[in-house]
Amino acid sequence: MAWKNNERADKLLNILYRGDLNTEEQIKKYLSELEQLIPADDTVRQEKLLTHQCWNHEIDTIAKQELALAFAVTHEAKFQSQAPSVTHTDLLLCKAFFLEYAGQADDALIHYNAAIEEAYKLESPKLIADGLNLRGAMLSYRGEFTPALKDLITAQSIYDDLHLDYWARNNMNQLATSYRRMGDTKTAIQYFKALEKTYNEHENFNEAIESNQQIAFAFEEQGQYQQALVHYQKSYDYWQSKNNLLQRSVTAVHMAGSLLKLNQIKKANKLLNDALLYITINQDNPYSYMQLYFAQIKLLENQPQLALAHIKEAEGAFNLSDNQRGLVELLQIKTTTLAQLALWKQAFEVQSEYVQLHLSLDKKSISKLTTEMRTRFDVDLVEKENRMLIEAQTQKQKMLDTLQENEYLQRIIIMLVALILVIVSIFAYVQLKRKTRFKHLALTDELTKLANRRHCYAKANIYLKNALKHKSPLSVISFDIDHFKWVNDKWGHDIGDKVLIAMADICSKLMRKSDIIGRIGGEEFLVVLPNANREQALEIAERIVTSVAQAQWQHLTPEQPQTISAGVASLTNESSLGQLLLKADQGLYLAKSAGRNCVRQV
Ligand code: GH3
Ligand code: MG
Ligand code: MG
Repeated sequence: MAWKNNERADKLLNILYRGDLNTEEQIKKYLSELEQLIPADDTVRQEKLLTHQCWNHEIDTIAKQELALAFAVTHEAKFQSQAPSVTHTDLLLCKAFFLEYAGQADDALIHYNAAIEEAYKLESPKLIADGLNLRGAMLSYRGEFTPALKDLITAQSIYDDLHLDYWARNNMNQLATSYRRMGDTKTAIQYFKALEKTYNEHENFNEAIESNQQIAFAFEEQGQYQQALVHYQKSYDYWQSKNNLLQRSVTAVHMAGSLLKLNQIKKANKLLNDALLYITINQDNPYSYMQLYFAQIKLLENQPQLALAHIKEAEGAFNLSDNQRGLVELLQIKTTTLAQLALWKQAFEVQSEYVQLHLSLDKKSISKLTTEMRTRFDVDLVEKENRMLIEAQTQKQKMLDTLQENEYLQRIIIMLVALILVIVSIFAYVQLKRKTRFKHLALTDELTKLANRRHCYAKANIYLKNALKHKSPLSVISFDIDHFKWVNDKWGHDIGDKVLIAMADICSKLMRKSDIIGRIGGEEFLVVLPNANREQALEIAERIVTSVAQAQWQHLTPEQPQTISAGVASLTNESSLGQLLLKADQGLYLAKSAGRNCVRQV
């Protein structure tokens, strides 16, 4: 049962690791199933689960974001002493990500750097790629395209190499976004169109629509607002069909932006008023643009006071997310608004602020071309590094394979040795069995299973030697079935055999363990009684004779009970077994002469 659970847990963990899941509900279901499956003392799987729990926190409200960050901070701290370890690095990345989400970009960068360093130390390609992907995405957002593309290109080749398709697509998304931000909209749109297609093929519909949204952004940036609106509309309809009103509203804000550029103020206003119901300050980016667009509309409607209120809201949100492009746009509108209100001094100050920011952004724009050239140059470098990284990885894999092969060979040798041992043991066992069986055969009489003549004499000799040595008593009884020839003649040889077997049984039951009873001739038996004197031997002989006479013979020889005659001899001055047996035979002869079914001794 336990291994079945482990198998299932590993399967789910692998699915989460590979990102092969389409919906949040599915992820949630798997996470809670894993909580049930993994025992508390299974630290390896518990740690894996922990990292997935960290990454899959909901972050759609500030409260939830705070919870997510707190979770990451607490658990990252717990594993700090283990660093670098796969678990710690993953948690560190998770923490950095939630820091970035909370707007603490500088802190996030420090943590990303630390995590990536750890991942390199661990030589874990997946974690290296994860770290580079996250850092690259953040740097790209901040407009630092050279390092961003460096990170993202490296991450891309690692994900491709590991065949982690979902993460490869996710990273390519970031790459495309970076090209868009860098001003290479054409490349960006190409990437996004390809991505949208594969996302749809893999039923990652949310991601597909995200690509569509990016295409819209790219067109908007190129000033192709009509084209942009086509794609925005597609996103808008998708979120509408999913009943995701928040995402629908975010799209509505973007649409409003393009509509304003096309002077479709009424439509824009309607969309913004709809969005207002769902977008709060929590969604800082759409919130700031929503406020900015409201301000624009109010300005067009000659309501500068109201416009100013919206500007204030937007400014706060732009500052919070450090969105300089947004701020430039805002400062322009703010200047116009203040001018309309005849607040000249303030208008002038804002205008200077605008010029400064615009200049610094322009510098960035001017350096775009250089950036692009430098980036292209760096890409070559990065690719070379990647090749080395992949080569090192292949080398490592080869070493692992060899080790594994050795282990495999060792296992085979151990198994072969064990097999040989088993075969030898079986062989030895069979031999032993055979030997005991032969020994048994050599010692016993096959018909009656009593000792045979040879065995009986051999044992008797040992008892005799012992008796002579210790001067202890020893007696023998020799008995013979009466008129046995006649039994054979009348009832047949088979019945004769059965009488012999029955005779052996009756006598055996009367013997002690130390006594020997053997069949020494056709229907002649010998009993050896160590430590039995003459009286005791006589008594035993009598008992045997009586027992035989009184036994049930009806089923073998009807109307004809069997009897035996016995001769007893006890050790006096004999020195050999022959002498003792002769005495017993003389007794037997006397018994036969006396009319049989009796005991005699000399
Ligand atoms: P007595 O009372 O004088 O001993 O008469 P008896 O018939 O028993 O004497 P005898 O020694 O002449 O006969 C022994 C018979 O026992 C001869 C033989 O046919 C039979 N006999 C010997 N060995 C076996 C055996 O293994 N199976 C059977 N069924 N009969 C046997
Ligand atoms: Mg006989
Ligand atoms: Mg006989």
